[in-house]
This record gives sequence, C-alpha cells and structure tokens, in this order.
Amino acid sequence: MKEEVSEIKTELEKKLEQVAGPDSLNSLKVEYLGKKGRITSLLKALRELPPSERPEAGKLVNELKVWAQRRFEEYFEILRKNLQKERFRRERVDITLPGRAPDLGAFHPVATVMNEIISVFTRMGFEVAEGPDIEDDYHNFQALNIPPEHPARDMQDTFYLDRENYLLRTHTSPVQIRVMEKQKPPIHIIAPGKVYRRDADLTHTPMFHQVEGLLVDTDVTFADLKGTLTLFAREIFGPDTKVRFRPSFFPFTEPSVEMDIQCVICGGKGCRVCQFSGWLEILGAGMVDPEVFKYVGIDPEKFQGFAFGMGVERIAMLKYRIDDIRLLFENNLRFLSQFK
Ligand SMILES: [Zn+2]
Repeated sequence: MKEEVSEIKTELEKKLEQVAGPDSLNSLKVEYLGKKGRITSLLKALRELPPSERPEAGKLVNELKVWAQRRFEEYFEILRKNLQKERFRRERVDITLPGRAPDLGAFHPVATVMNEIISVFTRMGFEVAEGPDIEDDYHNFQALNIPPEHPARDMQDTFYLDRENYLLRTHTSPVQIRVMEKQKPPIHIIAPGKVYRRDADLTHTPMFHQVEGLLVDTDVTFADLKGTLTLFAREIFGPDTKVRFRPSFFPFTEPSVEMDIQCVICGGKGCRVCQFSGWLEILGAGMVDPEVFKYVGIDPEKFQGFAFGMGVERIAMLKYRIDDIRLLFENNLRFLSQFK
C-alpha cells in the first residue's frame, strides 16, 4: 500500500506538470479523484485489508487524497492566473496613443443665417413675433388685401387643409396681421418662421423659411425703409455691398419694391448666377397699404408703416454660394459639416 501511494503521487505530479489547460486538468482530476478514480478506488480497497492494517493504510490514503486535492487547487489557481495574464495582454490599451476627438454638432446653415438675420434686426430695435403654421384664409390672404379670385393666390400655390378655410401659411405675413389686431402702434416686429408652397425645383422646396418685418409708427417714410434694409444687407453680405431698389407689386404694400444686392459671385460684372445682370434679388418690401390698416383698425391718416419679407434659404444660398436649394434639406453630413 505504501508503495502504491508513493507511485501514484509521483505519477500524478508528472501528469500535473504536463497539463495544458483547464479541460485536461479537469479530466485528470476525474481520473484520480472521481467516483471511479484511482485514489477513490484505493479508499474503497481499504475495506478488504485485514483490520490490523487498516488504520495505517487509511491514514496514508487519506493523506494522499488531501494532498491531491490541494495540488489540483493550486494548479487551477495557476491556470486562472495565466488566463488572466493572457487576457490582460490581449486587452492592453496604449494610453499614450492620441485620442479621437468627439464629433461636435453645429447649427444648420439655414438656422445660422436665420439667427444672423434676427440678430441684425433685433439690434435695430425690432422684436420677434410668432404665429401659427396653420392659418385661416382671412389672415393669410384676405386681411392682406388678397381677396378670393385675386391672381396673387395663384402665385402662391397653397396647401389647403380643407375646402374653405384652413391652410398651411404661404408666407409669414399673417403674423403682421395678428400683431396689428392685438397691438396699437408703434409696432416694430420681425416674424421668422416656416412657410409652405406647392413648389419644388432647383430653387424652391415645399417648405422653406421666411423672415418678415413690419414697422408702424408716425412719420414713417420710404427713406426709413431704404435705410433699414440697406443696413441689413451690409450687415449680412459685408459693408461694401451695393444695393438697388426696383419697383414691384405686392397686394399689401404700396408702393412696393424688390431689393437687389450686387452679385456676390461676379461683383457686378455678370455671371450665370445673376443671369448676367450683375444683381441678385434678395427681398420684397414696401409701404403698408392703407387698405391693410383698415382691416386691423389702425388709422392710416395718423400712422404709416413699411413691411418686408425674405426667404432665408435664398439668403443662405447667396451667402454660402450654394447652387441647389435641395442640398439644404438632404441633411448630408458631408455637406453640413462644412458649415461648422
Ligand atoms: Zn453675377
């Protein structure tokens, strides 16, 4: 028995040294300490020994068992540590490598230009007013001196929400009416917001942004309109920007004008963008038609005003030299990231 025990010990120690991983260590453990394992069988065989030999032999085999259990535990621990070391090696991070900067968001060019326009006018004393995107016929057309059957209604192909009354506003001008209904002059407001028209091509989208302005006070003249809008153009496009006013027509202003700036691409020499005229239209404006004042109960004998409106996308396209309005709505990050 003594010999057998020391034989098993030497043999097991040798095998333990050759173990490659947790799986073979496990099967080795079964081979020696499992139900039918060699050490277990040795313990069972104690019963067949004569009673006088049992105590000594029992002690030996039990010591062997305890020793084997400890050795297996030690080897499991060694393996666990090796595996961990290997994992640490694999997952090592080089903290001296340069980091990757997180991508920062930025304003959309339309929002940037909108904010710039708002900032220019609020510095001049205008306040921001807002109105609903869903308008009624009265505020979007009638009170702006655009009666039913008026040709201007065709110009602004409208999204109607029902047969008669409700529609998506075609311009921000109804905000002017809503302000004048509630507030007595002096009034100095700008109305930035979304407007909707059934239109889509290189320069038109079904939804776009406008900023509309209205000033009503005593002693307001056409010179005030020209001065205000010239200053605006120079703030947005640079201090040397040349402007001109051309007579135009809008139902709610009289007289009406369109304002051009000298072409930002060719500097006035003539190019494709300005259709070889040297000028680019940027907004419509005019003195508020006394008819409009009558709708909102403001005395046209006492008060005068001027109003203006512009497309924000158009200003953004000219400022950033973008030739297709759809780029502003596709939200392609490669396009947008140029405006950070
Ligand atoms: Zn040009």
